[in-house]
Amino acid sequence: MNKVRTRYAPSPTGKMHVGNLRSALYEFLIAKHAGGDFMLRIEDTDQERFVEGATEIIYRTLDKAGLEHDEGPDKDGGFGPYVQSERMKSGIYMEYARKLVERGEAYYCFCDRERLESLKTEIVEGKEIMMYDKHCLFLSEEEVQANLAAGKPFVIRQNIPKEGTTTFHDELYGEISVENAELDDMILIKSDGYPTYNFANVVDDHTMNITHVVRGNEYLSSAPKYQRLYDAFGWESPVYIHLPLITDENHKKLSKRSGHASFEELIDQGFLTEAVVNYIALLGWSPEENQEIFTLEELIEKFDYHRISKSPAVFDIVKLKWMNGEYLKAMDFDKFYEMAQPYIRKCLTKDLDFKKIAAMVKTRIEIFPDIAEHIDFFEQVPDYDSSMYAHKKMKTTPESSLEVLKELLPVLEAQEDYSNDALYDALCKYVSEKGCKNGYVMWPVRTAVSGKQMTPGGATELMEVLGKEESLARLRAAVAKLQADTAKG
Ligand code: GLU
Repeated sequence: MNKVRTRYAPSPTGKMHVGNLRSALYEFLIAKHAGGDFMLRIEDTDQERFVEGATEIIYRTLDKAGLEHDEGPDKDGGFGPYVQSERMKSGIYMEYARKLVERGEAYYCFCDRERLESLKTEIVEGKEIMMYDKHCLFLSEEEVQANLAAGKPFVIRQNIPKEGTTTFHDELYGEISVENAELDDMILIKSDGYPTYNFANVVDDHTMNITHVVRGNEYLSSAPKYQRLYDAFGWESPVYIHLPLITDENHKKLSKRSGHASFEELIDQGFLTEAVVNYIALLGWSPEENQEIFTLEELIEKFDYHRISKSPAVFDIVKLKWMNGEYLKAMDFDKFYEMAQPYIRKCLTKDLDFKKIAAMVKTRIEIFPDIAEHIDFFEQVPDYDSSMYAHKKMKTTPESSLEVLKELLPVLEAQEDYSNDALYDALCKYVSEKGCKNGYVMWPVRTAVSGKQMTPGGATELMEVLGKEESLARLRAAVAKLQADTAKG
């Protein structure tokens, strides 16, 4: 058996979207699962679509995601060059195109723009498509040579018969047959001498010994033309896996507008690389058992491309957030603290124990930016309504809270040790003297020091972080507030 060799073959045209990263990831996993090689090839023959800096994004993303390539522009593995514009310099594409011309599988076309524009167009899938009428296929050999000698601009086109059908095989979609009459004689070599993306892709996959090709199913419609090229050359085509579309929650094509389309944007929004990679692995693939959290190593071990599904994959940001939260929970605390610190610092100007705050939020947040809503009250008690003191289960009311807080103030003023444990003991002592339930006291205290329904810690944990002075100031302010509000009735 041939060694498995896969490639990620991006065109450097901009950001790396979730769909791009999924293709790269699946290619990587197929290779690594089989002990094969994963290669990076830059497809930059379409000079008009080239975007400055896009290649750097590709390198950065693959590197960050841990998809280390075995071969690529920066790592020669004997199949280089790995950038198509450089491969072109050796004349490889022209050489192969000429081979097809010799076999009658391709032909020179000298038609100028005017003539092409006069040709009939057809509406295919809502788009206007020009079908070339094979005019130049019928030029005599002498005419062709004379045109070439005269330096007349030309393209080379694939010669697809008008009759019959072309059949190709895709791992997910099975056998697909199309009528040849529907296939245009696509351009292989453009008038600027560059190969078209479709042609270079086939020549390179073959000459670089690629065994498996994974890509979005928007390429499915070109696949028959690819098949004809493989057949014309007498080459065996690689295993093709056209991946299902990724849609947003409304089953619309995932777009920039959905706000979560590019990898770097997701990272900027506070997602962890490992979580994004894990999540993307499951956009179209599922393991045999019910596992959802995978390290990259586990994915390599478990990834079986036969289990890729062809139904559209829904990019569910809620699920991704949940997954990210699982990663945060499992993260080593020191690492978590290091990453959480900037987010904590952004909301708090007070000199508080950030480490304790980080420990409080670690299991409560899904992404780092969630930290703000959990800890903002440490900076300042928000405006809140006294009705928050009424809690059915705790059996508290604003009136009962006022009484408890008033009684507690002198106790907490006398209290020297403001550690969580000592404060907890002090409050429990008061609870038992009063003969009430714990919550009857903890609820008003927690409300008083935070002004929030939900806090990342209990009353005494919050007071430990706030310290004696600030805690007392908040308790006194709460008493004053309750006094004013309960007097109002
Ligand atoms: N250059 C193509 C792209 O960026 C790659 C398609 C393929 O993998 O064959 O979409």
